[in-house]
Amino acid sequence: MVYNFELLSDNTMPFEDSLSFAQELDAHDPLGHMRNDFHLPKKNDGTDEIYLCGNSLGLQPKLTHSYLNYELSQWQRLGVKGHFDGDFPWMPYHEFLSEETAALVGAKTTEVVCMNSLTTNLHLMMVSFYRPRGTRTKVLIEDHAFPSDHYAVESQIKFHGLDPAKHMVLLKPRKGENCLRQEDILQTIDDLADQLALIMLPGVQYYTGQVLDMKLIAHTAQSHHIPIGFDLAHAAGNVLMELHEWGVDFAVWCSYKYLNSGPGSVAGCFVHEKHHDDETLPRFTGWWGHDKTTRFKMNNQFIPIHSAEAWQLSNPPILSLAAIRASLDTFKKAGGISTLREKSKKLTGFLRFLLDNRLKEQVTVITPDEDLSGCQLSLTINTNKPGKVVFEAIEAAGVTGDWREPNVIRVAPVPLYNRFEEMVRFVNILEQSL
Ligand SMILES: *Cc1c(COP(=O)(O)O)cnc(C)c1O
Repeated sequence: MVYNFELLSDNTMPFEDSLSFAQELDAHDPLGHMRNDFHLPKKNDGTDEIYLCGNSLGLQPKLTHSYLNYELSQWQRLGVKGHFDGDFPWMPYHEFLSEETAALVGAKTTEVVCMNSLTTNLHLMMVSFYRPRGTRTKVLIEDHAFPSDHYAVESQIKFHGLDPAKHMVLLKPRKGENCLRQEDILQTIDDLADQLALIMLPGVQYYTGQVLDMKLIAHTAQSHHIPIGFDLAHAAGNVLMELHEWGVDFAVWCSYKYLNSGPGSVAGCFVHEKHHDDETLPRFTGWWGHDKTTRFKMNNQFIPIHSAEAWQLSNPPILSLAAIRASLDTFKKAGGISTLREKSKKLTGFLRFLLDNRLKEQVTVITPDEDLSGCQLSLTINTNKPGKVVFEAIEAAGVTGDWREPNVIRVAPVPLYNRFEEMVRFVNILEQSL
């Protein structure tokens, strides 16, 4: 039998629960070679860990080292002249990242910028897009938002002199359910339209791995003229997006999860072009947002750049941007996000198949089905053993996933560097750990 990726995607070829089947898939995987472009953490015996934690910290591309070293040597050789000299001068360095970054999120190059950290960008965006007025004072977020997002929204509400208990609306899943229902999100927006000043939701929910229908949510928000922003921490480098087409007002994401740019690396930000020339938008400003041609005139008359770059504050950390450039070049080598997404559906689909085939009773996948999920599956354990104990056992056996309170094991096969074979090995280990 010929193992054909095209057939797999049509669901005309069934999966098989065997190591040899998985190895065949790897042998025919057009992206299989990309694993060699990454450093894989090793177990004590020198073999590769089964690394399923790219949702938390992506692995290091092999390019990163040389790109960082290049900038270190530029600094060593050129000192301050590195701002203008060399193949990648520091002054416009963030611009070298725009095209690839825009491709990842479905934006125009002028709509994206790499700057700051995710939470900082979230605050900067809310300064511009959360403007409580009249009856429209509330922010809609999800009940189980990532803590940093929750705190950021809460503190922005307080900053406007309002009470978060009254002005922060929390979307909850229905009783007994883990995920938000799309229709409930839209209904809530419709019901609260004349009270909402901002909607801020994740593209992919960090705990359940659920992908929200960003397009539909954005259209519903627009029909009521409510600004809509997305936190794409778990969506960037994972799922396909068309932020420009969808008319999303803003988005923020970090670069160290699926974007493999290293711990705490510089984050991304999207501002739709319809806002670039809006002089009524409030904004916290810094010199790096000022018109490039007159930035060094130092005359203290702020003229914003006509792009998302206007939201920049400082000259950026070049070493971190170099790591992002290495990551983006690695994505490009793989053929971009849509190619990766095709493999991702098969890889995560295979893992889902194995779990269902062998551990249906003991393990529940709380992540919704294919169209509403990306790389990550979130698992709860239904045996007498506490989930955390099971998690510790799989870790001891060489699997890196992560544990999220109160009771979820998250595993994220990443199409850039994970193999089909690892899905079988992981499920074997999980089975033994139960
Ligand atoms: C990872 C993550 C963060 C982390 O924020 P930083 O500012 O990068 O520390 C915030 N929000 C979400 C939803 C995340 O997944």
